[in-house]
Amino acid sequence: MIFENSLAFARQLDAQDTLSHYQNEFSFPQVNGKKVIYFTGNSLGLQPKRTKAYVDEIMNDWANLAVEGHFYAEKPWWDYQERFANPLSKIVGAKPSEVTVMNTLTVNLHLLMVSFYRPTAKRFKIICEEKAFPSDQYMFQSQVHFHGFKAEEAIVEIKRRDGEHNIRTEDVIAKINEVGDELALVLIGGVNYYTGQVFDMRSITAAGHKVGAYVGWDLAHAAGNVALELHDWNVDFAAWCSYKYMNSGPGNASGCFVHEKHHNNPDLPRFAGWWGHNKERRFKMEPTFDPVQGADGWQVSNLPVLSLAPYLASVEMFDEIGMDALVAKRDKITAYLEFILLEIDKEVSSTFEIITPANPAERACQLSVFLHGEGRSLFDYLMKNGVIVDWREPNVIRLAPVPLYCSFEDMYDFGQILKKGILGK
Ligand SMILES: *Cc1c(COP(=O)(O)O)cnc(C)c1O
Repeated sequence: MIFENSLAFARQLDAQDTLSHYQNEFSFPQVNGKKVIYFTGNSLGLQPKRTKAYVDEIMNDWANLAVEGHFYAEKPWWDYQERFANPLSKIVGAKPSEVTVMNTLTVNLHLLMVSFYRPTAKRFKIICEEKAFPSDQYMFQSQVHFHGFKAEEAIVEIKRRDGEHNIRTEDVIAKINEVGDELALVLIGGVNYYTGQVFDMRSITAAGHKVGAYVGWDLAHAAGNVALELHDWNVDFAAWCSYKYMNSGPGNASGCFVHEKHHNNPDLPRFAGWWGHNKERRFKMEPTFDPVQGADGWQVSNLPVLSLAPYLASVEMFDEIGMDALVAKRDKITAYLEFILLEIDKEVSSTFEIITPANPAERACQLSVFLHGEGRSLFDYLMKNGVIVDWREPNVIRLAPVPLYCSFEDMYDFGQILKKGILGK
């Protein structure tokens, strides 16, 4: 498609957009009396207006039913997480029994590593990406120490080549083969939080299995953003937060995936709790743990229903739209943003370098842009003028044009504000 950097053209794209009315489903912060252009849905998604009713329902049931709400609420609390199985399984490409919601992301990855990182003297290494999200780095370090290994021996990072911003799939696979029978686990962020690179999860999972390792994915930036096929890709396990692209609210509950091939494996250790116990017998208070067959068998505690309620509102919205429509708009609006950036770059005589892969198959809803020669004052200018972006050292802004609530007109307006911010100084 041939794009144009004009308000009329942006409005024409909005008029063709079948998801444009979803913008009205969200609450936007205001700056200077106008709704902001929100590019940080990869950090904290906006609040869907329908969410409040889901939370109010729990508050009312609690007020009116108290303990009886566990069984007699309109949506009973004791198995509230089962309402996620269908919609969430479609979002991540799983069978309903392979997904559950519980705890928070890093906690869930730790719990899943109890099952899937069981190092031996010979097979003890973990492959991850260089400059992984800090929480993942701390998690890897603490896990290998917990098992009595040294981080510098057990953690193998895939490096970028000199002068390149992204990691090549061939380098990941070569490293997997090189580590070979010492490799216990591959665990990578499906979408890199800094560059927005989408990894080839299918090929990397297959390569890890070929050398006898388990393969898991941290899908913090992928869930609700990328079309995933976790079951068909034969991924062993995955987890994601729900507060980024899934708009469930700050620090909210995490989703997990455990492939069905592991559901009935009594040799897999896990840290158990009563909510993972056989559903029919949970309240018999039996002494021996008998896990639910399925991802629910990794549940530990009584459900945090007040935080699951906004997440349920979110997955129902995703279910209404479907990932195909979302991905189609995502690609178009991301391409339009890229076009706008390149146009403005010409007008201000070249200061930008987009470090996110240019290939649409290797990116999703994020462009990370190096602003050479610009400083934090540009970031401050954008924020003051109603553009909410994320600034990372040394000089990178991350822009997520979330298809659910960003418009093509937003992209055009952003370009004009950006140009003023650079030329006006
Ligand atoms: C956002 C993010 C996290 C956050 O983890 P929490 O446990 O929810 O704080 C972890 N990993 C990655 C890759 C992330 O992008």
